[in-house]
Amino acid sequence: MFTGQPFTVPEHIEPVPGLADRVEAMYRAGRYRTAMDEVLRQLRRDPANAEAMILAATIVYVSRTATLMAAEPLTREQSASAILAPVAVQCSRCGAFWYAMGTVLPIPNMIVANPLGVQCPVCRYTLCKDCAAAASHQGAAIPCPAPGCSGTLEPAHLPTGRREVLPIDPSEIERVIVARDGPIPPTISEALPAVTTYVPLVADDAPFVIICRSDPSQMSDASAPVLARRLVDGLEHDMLLASGAWDRSTPMRVTGSEDDSDYLVIVVKLPERQPPSAFLAGLMGDHLQRIADAKFEHHGPCWAGLYSADVTGESAALLQAAASDAHQADRLATRTRILPEYVVVATGIPTLDLPAARSQFPHGYPAYVEQLNGSFRLPGYGLNFVHWISCSDGATTQLHLTFLPADQSEQALLAQDLVEPDMRRALGL
Ligand SMILES: [Zn+2]
Ligand SMILES: [Zn+2]
Repeated sequence: MFTGQPFTVPEHIEPVPGLADRVEAMYRAGRYRTAMDEVLRQLRRDPANAEAMILAATIVYVSRTATLMAAEPLTREQSASAILAPVAVQCSRCGAFWYAMGTVLPIPNMIVANPLGVQCPVCRYTLCKDCAAAASHQGAAIPCPAPGCSGTLEPAHLPTGRREVLPIDPSEIERVIVARDGPIPPTISEALPAVTTYVPLVADDAPFVIICRSDPSQMSDASAPVLARRLVDGLEHDMLLASGAWDRSTPMRVTGSEDDSDYLVIVVKLPERQPPSAFLAGLMGDHLQRIADAKFEHHGPCWAGLYSADVTGESAALLQAAASDAHQADRLATRTRILPEYVVVATGIPTLDLPAARSQFPHGYPAYVEQLNGSFRLPGYGLNFVHWISCSDGATTQLHLTFLPADQSEQALLAQDLVEPDMRRALGL
């Protein structure tokens, strides 16, 4: 679980097999960027991994001086990653942050050469070089400005964390919405640093990000919350977010690291999970069995994963939740979740009548699938697309399934019953 809290070296460190060897080899070859990508991926999955955190802190610290000569310098986004917040030292006044070696290697009586700031050893109140120069009278020691603290600021080396980073477990994130001030929406490579600087995600997490348009000058204190609400409600209306999304949203106004524009980043948490009923899980099992019995020609590893316990378990839980959302709202409801290698979408439709079910997709079912895929940046990122649909009148339930394998040589399956007959003919189905 990512907390963003300052890192302390634990007494026992459980090594990840091969990680230190691989990273150190890359590091010695000056391949800081590749080494850091590997470490960040590890920490994205396992934020409490002390070995990976120490490796990360070492790379980010050493590369500060070696970076100009390196074969692969660290990128700005890597150094600013929210995942590294636990080893960062941040100025309590201006918010500037940096990394210091003492964060991971507590050396007694360490003399910090050319320190980037000063810190109170009692409460960790920290000032960067500039803020310290402004606070000190002719270079005299600065008494700790924290209320009630009797410490004195010394060369800084203990981590403080970064207060603007959102402490959220990536497995609790439904989607991240990004808008930029001005008429032109950002590209994904512009939007990603605005996300990863504040949210513990990595570049591989681009499928989470939905980029939205904003009208110019909507980023003021007064208008940004209005814009945030409009974007979240709009995506919920388009069935890209589960119902009640605004209550699960955390809007943040941030500055892009690429272009210094104002960005609005909205992190939407997943709604509460519902355990699937044995009834629904059984229906899904039967449905998958019928598909297996039909013996499609091109089944491969992507299809095999669809039948795995991880994917079927999560699908059943999402479908249960979507079906009960749909029943409550008496309209179509959708839940989504990004798993390793699979995007799982579940839609509940509160009717068994097929023409009525089809009419719930305003532009037709294929257009909805296309819109969903676009929102996850699919095809790509090695992600398979799974869409379970449950049509139910409360007494009887009928399931449908669409599956678009990441490997396009494997057979795709479209829930044809949900496609209007004339559209089916037009698509040659
Ligand atoms: Zn400062
Ligand atoms: Zn203090």
